[in-house]
Amino acid sequence: MAWDVVVLGGGPAGLFAGVTAAEEGARSIVLEHLPSPGRKLLAAGGGQGNLTRSGEIADFLPHYGGGARPGEAGRFLRPALYAFSNRDLVTWCARRGGPLVEDPDGRVFPRSRRAGDVLDLLLAEARRRRVQVRTGVRVRSIRVERLRFAVLTAPNERPVAEGTTLVLATGGRSYPSLGATGDGYRIASSLGHRVVPPRPALVPLVVERRSFAPFVPCAGVSLTGAAVVLVRAGRAIATGHGDVLFTHRGLSGPAILDLSRRVLPGDVVRVPLLPGSGDVHATEARLGAEIAAHGKRTVANLLQGIGVVACLARALGTSLDLDPATKAAELPRDARRALAASLAAGGDGGHPFPVRSVGGWNEAMVTAGGVALAEVDPKSLESRIVPGLFFAGEILDVDGDTGGYNLQAAFSTGSLAGRSAAQRAGGRSDVPHRGTNKL
Ligand SMILES: Cc1cc2nc3c(=O)[nH]c(=O)nc-3n(C[C@H](O)[C@H](O)[C@H](O)COP(=O)(O)OP(=O)(O)OC[C@H]3O[C@@H](n4cnc5c(N)ncnc54)[C@H](O)[C@@H]3O)c2cc1C
Repeated sequence: MAWDVVVLGGGPAGLFAGVTAAEEGARSIVLEHLPSPGRKLLAAGGGQGNLTRSGEIADFLPHYGGGARPGEAGRFLRPALYAFSNRDLVTWCARRGGPLVEDPDGRVFPRSRRAGDVLDLLLAEARRRRVQVRTGVRVRSIRVERLRFAVLTAPNERPVAEGTTLVLATGGRSYPSLGATGDGYRIASSLGHRVVPPRPALVPLVVERRSFAPFVPCAGVSLTGAAVVLVRAGRAIATGHGDVLFTHRGLSGPAILDLSRRVLPGDVVRVPLLPGSGDVHATEARLGAEIAAHGKRTVANLLQGIGVVACLARALGTSLDLDPATKAAELPRDARRALAASLAAGGDGGHPFPVRSVGGWNEAMVTAGGVALAEVDPKSLESRIVPGLFFAGEILDVDGDTGGYNLQAAFSTGSLAGRSAAQRAGGRSDVPHRGTNKL
């Protein structure tokens, strides 16, 4: 039998597309290769589900990377985000008995702090709207025949489903354990779409071993509100702001994850080890005053006295080859200046961490790259190459910052693609719509 809308991928984008298409009166089916849908949604926000954030949609737009030019991803997402906004998501969940709450940083979670509750809402809505969610079906290819999409799990087998329209929502490549396959990219290419090579994003950084050795004992230490700078060939090329987390191999935390889409091996990330301490000049003056007052203290003790985390104070001393017993008053001038630079922010401030590599697919929370935006109509999310083909979610060349931007993009693009596909199917489909699926 032929469906109005066939959705590939049972993540938040695909489920939302299926449900929205059904709201529009279309008969829709969602095909998912894992035994159960929405695995990544379940893992979101450490299981608590940071679904979106508060504020104006205009403020969301600069938080997306992707596209051929700066700002293109935000401009591309604009129609989808306005058509189904963060407020619409809050209302959608609340109306179905799943209230959302905002934390002091503006991040929005289910009141229960269980991402699973939102997945339950989506699946209940799918049942109510008679969306078929079929699991354990790994789609390998698509044949376009007489304005219909035939969905195949193996090249010479009979189609598992046929549809008047098709929504590709198979996600990215990160976290294969949560379902990522990359199949959607191959399918999109086979249908004539250009795919920007996928690469890991929102990913921790591995720092050159020798430079990082003194900081290994600091794994687990977190700095709040640090202004970090990405430096390439001696030039600052990007900045970030937020918390920085020290790991066993390098750096993580929101400020680093958000910057990671721009980082290449060989770059240097400068992290002020005393956030809020001002520029190098001011910090050096402050250090000088402290040394004048407490010259008999060891360097590590003096640094702790001005608020440097104990472990980082020791690591700084080691990285400057200082004997731990060195008294502050004995600090050579160039070492004092280097210490001030490591603590300070702005200009040449921040301790330099040379990047050995960015983490891989098992660590990246999202995928940068994907289906090229220029070949997709942002107002409907329909392919400009294959009529009746739509895209939703992370398969697109869009990647958001941490804090709810990615799930909001998945819900918004799922909603727009589902609605557009239903409308297109309604205008073209020879399959009568079932009244039960009407709003
Ligand atoms: C650990 C972790 C935590 C995260 N936390 C947050 C957070 O708190 N807030 C936030 O905004 N974002 C978060 N993200 C990112 C967010 O989860 C994703 O951006 C979002 O899930 C993308 O939705 P999607 O539907 O496009 O893709 P996915 O959620 O990846 O769904 C795609 C689905 O397609 C299925 N599939 C793949 N190939 C095939 C195939 N060939 N046939 C059939 N099915 C297929 C997959 O199994 C999967 O279920 C997190 C990601 C991770 C990994």
